[in-house]
Amino acid sequence: MTGPPRLCHAVPVVTVDTVRGPVDVADLGMTLMHEHVFITTPDVMVNYGDQWWDEEERLADAITKLRGVAELGVRTIVDPTVVGLGRYIPRVAQVNAEVDINIVAATGLYTFADLPPIWHGQGPGTQYGGPEPLTELFLKDIREGIGGTGIRAAFLKGVVEAQGFTPDQTRVQRAIAATHVETGVPITVHTNSAERTGLLALDFYEREGVDLTKVVVGHAGDSNDLDYLRALADRGATLGCDRFGNDTWNTTPRRVATIAALCREGYADRIVLSHDQSCFIDFYAFEASRQTLAKEAPNWHFEHISRDVLPALREAGVSEDQITAMMVDNPRRYFTPA
Ligand SMILES: [Zn+2]
Repeated sequence: MTGPPRLCHAVPVVTVDTVRGPVDVADLGMTLMHEHVFITTPDVMVNYGDQWWDEEERLADAITKLRGVAELGVRTIVDPTVVGLGRYIPRVAQVNAEVDINIVAATGLYTFADLPPIWHGQGPGTQYGGPEPLTELFLKDIREGIGGTGIRAAFLKGVVEAQGFTPDQTRVQRAIAATHVETGVPITVHTNSAERTGLLALDFYEREGVDLTKVVVGHAGDSNDLDYLRALADRGATLGCDRFGNDTWNTTPRRVATIAALCREGYADRIVLSHDQSCFIDFYAFEASRQTLAKEAPNWHFEHISRDVLPALREAGVSEDQITAMMVDNPRRYFTPA
């Protein structure tokens, strides 16, 4: 949650909650707006995880990877891992205790279509009825903290995929919008650029009273369709150019050319950059998938933007001020209450 302004030597300070506690938004610095520490499937892991999960090894690996990121000057990563992606904040805090980097935690729910059975039948219009339990949980994560850790979520994460607004997805998105309206906490929405679902998401949020300048359209950077991207940005939303290195969705040269074109048109204040990388993600827990990924997306790692993408953007005519806007100013604005 972004805290209320408080006075410090007569300079108003606005803070954003992170895993290590509140941080002045002015100190967020270079920010990767969509990265994950751990993506897991907890009920699969507790039953079968001995095939791929070694806790000590995974912690050490995450610490090494994030130290590498911090050494490149990145001060903050924004981690949209929520329920549905195995969010487990104590493990993230253990990593963060060993790495000098800000990690911003999220609340929300990751599903392409359906809610898990625990919530499917509870809530407005369902078998057992009652108030929407999701809204209450999202508010609790923001106001009291996540899972008894006291670590508060500072943004909301949801999904609008090709399946669109199924009945359960409508409930999730309505709960996300309601939580945003009540708290002012910003939203990052996973979208499917090929299906242009960013527009569906913005239409819905607008109807629900969401401030679209507080929405990052996640994975917009998978698209090179300038008409689609302008249509999102012209409504005030920020384009999540956040899968750098994952060439299976869009190659780095094409992502760079698209961003350079948008910057030439004056959209640098509507773009954020990231990799959608994870220190560990069980989608690729097995050797065959890792080998395929290594072949098809060899640059999909946390250091690609700092080492390769920023130089390529400069080469393509993007100015230092525009890079600062995308990496520092836009993230700070996103976490500053409207
Ligand atoms: Zn992601």
